Amino acid sequence: MANDSGLSLPDGVAFPFDNTYARLPERFYARLAPTPVAVPRLLKLNLALARQLGLDPDVLASPEGVAVLAGNRIPGGSDPIALAYAGHQFGGFSPQLGDGRAILLGELVDRDGVRRDVQLKGSGPTPFSRRGDGRAALGPVLREYIVSEAMFVLGIPTTRSLAAVSTGEPVWRETELPGAVLTRVASSHIRVGTFQFFAARSDLEALRLLADHVIDRHYPQIRTDPAAAAHPYRALFEQVIDRQARLVAQWMLVGFIHGVMNTDNTSIAGETIDYGPCAFMDDYDPATVFSSIDTQGRYAYANQPRIAPWNLARFGETLLPLLDDDSDAALAQANEILATFQSRFAGALLAGLRRKLGLFTEDAGDAVLADDLLKAMAANHADFTLTFRRLGDAAADPVHDAGVRDQFLDSAAFDAWAVRWRARLGHESQDGIARRAAMHAVNPLYIPRNHLVEAVLAAAIERDDYAPFEELMAVLARPFDERPGFAAYAEPPVGDQSGYKTFCGT
Ligand code: AMP
Ligand code: MG
Repeated sequence: MANDSGLSLPDGVAFPFDNTYARLPERFYARLAPTPVAVPRLLKLNLALARQLGLDPDVLASPEGVAVLAGNRIPGGSDPIALAYAGHQFGGFSPQLGDGRAILLGELVDRDGVRRDVQLKGSGPTPFSRRGDGRAALGPVLREYIVSEAMFVLGIPTTRSLAAVSTGEPVWRETELPGAVLTRVASSHIRVGTFQFFAARSDLEALRLLADHVIDRHYPQIRTDPAAAAHPYRALFEQVIDRQARLVAQWMLVGFIHGVMNTDNTSIAGETIDYGPCAFMDDYDPATVFSSIDTQGRYAYANQPRIAPWNLARFGETLLPLLDDDSDAALAQANEILATFQSRFAGALLAGLRRKLGLFTEDAGDAVLADDLLKAMAANHADFTLTFRRLGDAAADPVHDAGVRDQFLDSAAFDAWAVRWRARLGHESQDGIARRAAMHAVNPLYIPRNHLVEAVLAAAIERDDYAPFEELMAVLARPFDERPGFAAYAEPPVGDQSGYKTFCGT
């Protein structure tokens, strides 16, 4: 009995999948089903995202739906595959990585006509698992759920989380942990590393098929714009660079540190993907690194705008044979396009900084003004999020300067800067109330601070208590709206809540 959403009951759950990647040649993936788990239990279902995907939340929450979300049952329409990819990890190349613990159930076209991958992460071993167990632990699954959804409401392109299910099975890391499966939704799971996989095998035919698939799926305007269509792979490189430049600028503007910017974690669609060791900064310090394995600080906050073009250079290398038959000409073209990253990134960053500072117009001195605030923040251990948030209040009325000054060890550093800021604001006609509204709409009050996330995970893992998780999700769902009763969620960590470390992909 099928209903509007394409799901059918009671004879089985079916999704209205329309799988295009699974129709690419066999060497693009391994075809296999998830490995069933002992006792699936639904921990969280993203109702709004389910509806966006045209799925009925009631069906997903039913025992049959939960069996699908756990990997115990293949829904009708699914053609499950683990994708092949390669990648540079911390600068070193692995010609074969691939979905070692993830399986793509299929693609759905959502209510806005956007094609979305629906993937189970933690769904058991695949031919790409190497020494891994193919599983995910509950903590990292909940963490990805929280942070990816927070990124989404902050307006930052990201993979999303449709559901979290516990497996009733232990996973072994340094210690025994409860296991879980995350249902991840992405524009696609195609990465720079997917191109590298075929480039490493000199498989030009596959590279061309993959590039054409990506253009049709993510950059269809290349087909219709005559100038782009004349050189589609050049246009593709340009578009991917543009999306990455904007993405990393958005990370910088909220103090987000991805933590593992390997080429296999660089999405061709320009989404934030792989929430392993990521974290938001509290005190502003450009050198901040959270990942326990990133001992060199390769993926530190301030390095992100340098690492992105490094990853994109690796992407460009895979495209060389498609750009021009003459390899020197291809290289020259690729370098010319790659060089545009800087201006694209700088433009997106400066536009964002202007919004954060409440500037409606452009002035040649704005970049220096913003940079000087950031320097003062770094020197004075100012909280990144609260400084910008409270600056919005100060824009409405200088009486609120006190809230910003509080963030600075030496508040005179802020006062000196504030004189210049106010002089600059004086060149614009907006009143303080309008400026505060504009600033509060871009400077969040609530972000998934590490100490908050850790407390939520501890409650879930140690006490099977999901009330703190639900409350944090409710707070993060509206990050720009100050609400009574949630003041503690805006606060930076104190004492032993700081000094946070994250652990990769476990
Ligand atoms: P990540 O660090 O999460 O980007 O993963 C890097 C590579 O390791 C990818 O190929 C993953 O599929 C694989 N991987 C990570 N964790 C596991 C695991 N528990 N079992 C199998 N493969 C894994
Ligand atoms: Mg990854």
